[in-house]
Amino acid sequence: EVRVRFAPSPTGALHIGGVRTALYNYLFAKKMGGKFLLRIEDTDQTRFVPGAEEYIKESLEWLGIAPEESPWNPGDCGPYRQSERKPMYMQYALDLVEKGHAYYAFDTSEELEAMRERLTAARVVSPQYNSITRTQMKNSLTLSAEEVKARLESGDPYVIRVKIPRNEEVRLNDMIRGWVMVNTGTLDDKVLMKSDGMPTYHLANIVDDHLMGITHVIRGEEWLPSAPLHVLLYKYFGWESTMPQFAHLPLLLKPDGNGKLSKRDGDKLGFPVFPLNWTDPFSGEKASGFREQGYLADAFINFLAFLGWNPGDDRELFTLEDLVEAFSVERIGKSGTKFDIAKAKWYNEQYLRSKPTSELTGFLLADAKAEGLEVPADKAAAIVDLVKGRVTFPADLWKESKFMVSAPEKFDEGVAAKKWNADAVKLLGAYATALDTFEGTFDAVSAKSLLESTAETEGIKLGKVMQAVRLAVTGMGGGPDLMEVFAILGKEEVAKRIRFALS
Ligand code: GLU
Repeated sequence: EVRVRFAPSPTGALHIGGVRTALYNYLFAKKMGGKFLLRIEDTDQTRFVPGAEEYIKESLEWLGIAPEESPWNPGDCGPYRQSERKPMYMQYALDLVEKGHAYYAFDTSEELEAMRERLTAARVVSPQYNSITRTQMKNSLTLSAEEVKARLESGDPYVIRVKIPRNEEVRLNDMIRGWVMVNTGTLDDKVLMKSDGMPTYHLANIVDDHLMGITHVIRGEEWLPSAPLHVLLYKYFGWESTMPQFAHLPLLLKPDGNGKLSKRDGDKLGFPVFPLNWTDPFSGEKASGFREQGYLADAFINFLAFLGWNPGDDRELFTLEDLVEAFSVERIGKSGTKFDIAKAKWYNEQYLRSKPTSELTGFLLADAKAEGLEVPADKAAAIVDLVKGRVTFPADLWKESKFMVSAPEKFDEGVAAKKWNADAVKLLGAYATALDTFEGTFDAVSAKSLLESTAETEGIKLGKVMQAVRLAVTGMGGGPDLMEVFAILGKEEVAKRIRFALS
């Protein structure tokens, strides 16, 4: 059975790249008839941010891609928070020590710093604790067995490091990138167990993926450099036969393609990079989220799916179910994807506009109510039908139609200066009078023919005064089809507004 996991660290708001990783894991699990798990990787307690875990949960729930096993909904492989699994890790680190693939290291931070300085002075580009330098450090490979024992017994602080061989080829077959080959000479002896008894990401991640039966690791490209170490750890533990397959997702780039999209780019570039609003609990800094900006969950999902994946043809609109159906890791690109907010808006428009009117009137009624205005249900429905095609966000429904609920008090002066003239005044006066005596159904068609016949009687070319008519009734120079607006307002209201404009 396919089992995949999303393994966020609760170090702040989940950003769009993380959400995409979660989505691809979800899609892959569903496609394969497998399970999608979530594990909180909180071994680095110095980076713990309160509220981050709840934020992750709420984001995934908003998008409808909640995991089937998680800290909030545990399955058989719990706990699902690494901090709660703490007692389990030491035995695995000790197992590696016993097998000769890991060792105790007692170096103080001053000693480590001195080593780095020495190497830097000797022009070593990236000073590392590795097969060469470890021979000069204080660890169980250089100290006598008695001394190691004595230090451990006296409670000296120590870490456990992996023992990376000097010159070996590590290969892994990434589902997206194909074969990746690395010589162990470029790797360092990463710490597996910290002096506080907490495992590092590397140890905890491998142990947990193994214990949780993870079959595929789908994660961001920033983890590709760690993958060779992970492959070695699977080998050292003797878990090679059940090692998961790796898929490293391409980077998300800034809109101009210049570098990685960072958490800080968001509001600076004028769009959110977080799913939900977020306030940093330490600094109080605020960042805006797609949800609160008015993006619909299904539109956002569709947009996200296409940031690195495509179906191989020109279809663009996919519901979550469609995505599950169409998804394949093979169709994920290797190169970075530019973040394009215009595309996100386009998706939102498609989804918003395709919703039935009955689902949209609520937005309009709520926004109107917030301004103390009541709109009758049938009028709200007519308004939504009319302005639907012009909106990007739900809040636009009210912005685009408020003038149909409350009459303009001011008139666009720029338009007035250009379009208001004697012919317009004459026509408007005559039209208001004609409206008073009009009988029959006042709809867009009859409103128009009445306007046309009035213009004809007055000898005025309608095309020349149409904008003035719009200005008189709406206060603005542009907007939805004016005759439809008239129909929604009703003849009395149109006549009343014209007289106010003329007064
Ligand atoms: N905790 C890591 C992160 O925050 C998970 C990396 C992985 O999926 O292996 O991205």
